[in-house]
Parts: sequence; C-alpha cells; structure tokens
Amino acid sequence: MRVLAFLDGTLSDPDAPWIRVDDLGLMRGDGIFETVLVADGKPRELRPHLDRLARSASMLDLPEPDDEAWQRVTRQVIDNWTGDREFALKLVYTRGIESAPDAGPTAFAMGLTIDEKILRARRDGVAVVTLDRGIDPGLAERAPWLLLGAKSLSYGVNMAAGREAARRGAGDVIFTATDGSVLEGPTSNVIIARGHTLYTPPATIGILPGTTQAAVFRGAERLGWSTRIEPLSAADLRDNDGLFLASSVRKLTRVHTLDGEQLPDSSAVHAELAKAYEDVYS
Ligand SMILES: *Cc1c(COP(=O)(O)O)cnc(C)c1O
Repeated sequence: MRVLAFLDGTLSDPDAPWIRVDDLGLMRGDGIFETVLVADGKPRELRPHLDRLARSASMLDLPEPDDEAWQRVTRQVIDNWTGDREFALKLVYTRGIESAPDAGPTAFAMGLTIDEKILRARRDGVAVVTLDRGIDPGLAERAPWLLLGAKSLSYGVNMAAGREAARRGAGDVIFTATDGSVLEGPTSNVIIARGHTLYTPPATIGILPGTTQAAVFRGAERLGWSTRIEPLSAADLRDNDGLFLASSVRKLTRVHTLDGEQLPDSSAVHAELAKAYEDVYS
C-alpha cells in the first residue's frame, strides 16, 4: 500500500506520474529525504527527523523546509493510511525543476508498506560484510562539500554496497574508513553492546546522526545502561556482546554473521535492547 501527499496538502494517486523528467532530484540526485517509522498512527522521532531534514537542507543550500507544512503532510498521510499498523513514511525534498528555478523545491510525503526483507531481518538478524568507504575520519570536517552527514538522495554508492553484500552472500554492510575505523551502514548506524554499555561512533567522522540510535540509547539508559559515543575500530566489531544496525524502519537489527564468520549468539541482549527501544514509545 502507498499513500502520497504533496507538501501543499494535495493527496495524489501514487501510481500516477507526478515528477517531471527535468526534476533535479531525478537528474542529479540533488535533494534530501527522511524515512520515519509510523507505528499505531504515531510517527516515531518526528522532531529529530524534521531537525535533520532542516540540517541536510542547509548543507545542500536548499530553501529552509517549512516545518509546519511537513508536520501537516505527515499527519495527512497517517490519517489516510489503512494498511499495516507499522509503515515507512518517506519525506522527499528536491531542488525542483532545472528550467523553472522559481517554481521551488519538489516536496512530498509518501507512506509505504515495510519490505518483507526488513521484517525478516528485524526478527532473525542479518549477515553483514565490512566494505571500505574510502574516506578518512577527518574528511567530513575538512570537506563539507562532500555532504557527508547529509541524508541526500544521492545514494547510488549506498545501493551498490548493498548489491556487493548480496554478491558476498550477506544482507547488509558496515562501511569502514581508510584507517579501519567503523563508520555506519548504507542506511543505518552501528551500535555495539559490551557489558551494560552501548557504543556508537561520533557523527563528526562523516556519518549520519541516527534518530533510532539515539532512541535505543535513551531506552537503554532508562534500564541503567551506560552509553558512549566514541570512535570504534574494526576489532570492536568482534570484541563485544552484541553488534547491531539501527535505523527507523529496521529498528534495532542484530548482526549474526560478520564477513562470513558467525558471531556469538546475542539474541538475549538484542531482546532486552529491542524491548527498551519499544518502551520509549509506550
Ligand atoms: C537514514 C540513515 C541512518 C539511520 O537514521 P535513522 O534516523 O535512525 O533512521 C544512518 N545512516 C545513513 C547513511 C542513513 O541514510
């Protein structure tokens, strides 16, 4: 099922053609997006998602997003959704039409059924390969025009990494920097559990600050866990009591196999943290 609404409040047929062929989002991948999880009619982490949309827009020199309009259109899609109790809500914001810059950005929200593959990974965990991202941890601060840390529509590399993982018999990817440090997944953040402490790398190394990672940390802290945001090495991916990928739609997904090697069973740690995350919303 899909529900489409443009930012001006027009509810539209998701099977009809709406985007012009000269839209810069299509021609150049020049735009940004957010994916929000909606559960039982409530958008999770909407405030952090909209704050990040504004931050991404600023990094790409796009007009500042109309926050109230995005909140309205989010509500509109949710109110028109009649599918499963959880769905993915995409917010898309492009630079608009090349030949008509005065027309402004293209902006819409679309509700989508969650992919079966993602539901299976949530339940059973996932095999992951590490892949070199070719960036060093100082690059994001040295070269802001590379847009590291913006949730941009230019995800060709991220999608290619997923296909490389499939060729290697895995379902997902953890990117590493040139010095071997841990970055993030193509659409997720990396979280490690060790004892009763959670770790994730800092956004300053050129990764996206995750709204789900933050929610998982909040949930774990309520249970008395400690949380640390600090650089992680490739060795940390093995030296732990649980390795996870976090993102809005996959929630907290357990990594059971790393580069072809089965990891020790972390189902119990996963169950505790997955519950802590759900409890944030109950
Ligand atoms: C969307 C995304 C994440 C996860 O962000 P959430 O807010 O948790 O959904 C992490 N890394 C990348 C590259 C992403 O695109």
